[in-house]
Amino acid sequence: MLSISPIPAFNDNYIWLISDTKTHKAWVVDPGDAKVVIDTLQEKQLQLEGILITHHHFDHIGGLKALKKLFKPTTYGPESDAIHDIDVPLKANDTLTLLNHSVNVVAVPGHTLDHIAYFSETLLSQPVLFCGDTLFAGGCGRLFEGSPQQLYQSLQQLAHLPANTLVYCAHEYTQNNLAFAHTVEPDNAELAARRQHVTQLRNNHQPTLPSTIAEELSTNPFLRCTELTVKQRCESHVQQSLTSPVDVFATLRRWKDHF
Ligand SMILES: [Zn+2]
Repeated sequence: MLSISPIPAFNDNYIWLISDTKTHKAWVVDPGDAKVVIDTLQEKQLQLEGILITHHHFDHIGGLKALKKLFKPTTYGPESDAIHDIDVPLKANDTLTLLNHSVNVVAVPGHTLDHIAYFSETLLSQPVLFCGDTLFAGGCGRLFEGSPQQLYQSLQQLAHLPANTLVYCAHEYTQNNLAFAHTVEPDNAELAARRQHVTQLRNNHQPTLPSTIAEELSTNPFLRCTELTVKQRCESHVQQSLTSPVDVFATLRRWKDHF
């Protein structure tokens, strides 16, 4: 009865809309832009009941104030001085109820220090994750505030979610991410197949999301830091030996920053 669909915003953001077709109630995740949300709610005749925020960047919270004023939804987000208009501040392991379903909060610092993700086992017929700018399809967020160690650990938490978890991240970066992934792992056959599929989707102007944790485990280099081939490629890129998975991760992140 519930459905999740993307509202495209700005150049490459997705604001995820969770709606109940029977009650016409809806929630949105990271409404960076109020107008596209208002237009979609009107078009689909939905009533905004709640808002989830993952972190403080403007392209994730820009529409919060206007939507709160207009529809009076209950707003949830991280405890953060940088975000106003949050009714219910959240921290690791908190739970909330969304359209009668339980949602768990996972703290995922790294991209920003306040970053949280939302996980639900029951919202759809398979588990779902809203992870903002932490885990992307084929990649991960940049390190703006946290350390490589923090983001590595955050991604590891997400990597241990059930393999069939649907990953709803906040940007359409998949093609570029997979081009980088291919540079790291030119012989990964699953990656090559995924790249081909993603290219087809983009040629047809389709979103490449959600992905699944299983897909990310087999094709996303940032979740594959313990693979010998990934380690060796990173070592040859920086011409030095890398002793820990976190070192491999930090190398991948810096490499991708200039890709
Ligand atoms: Zn961000």
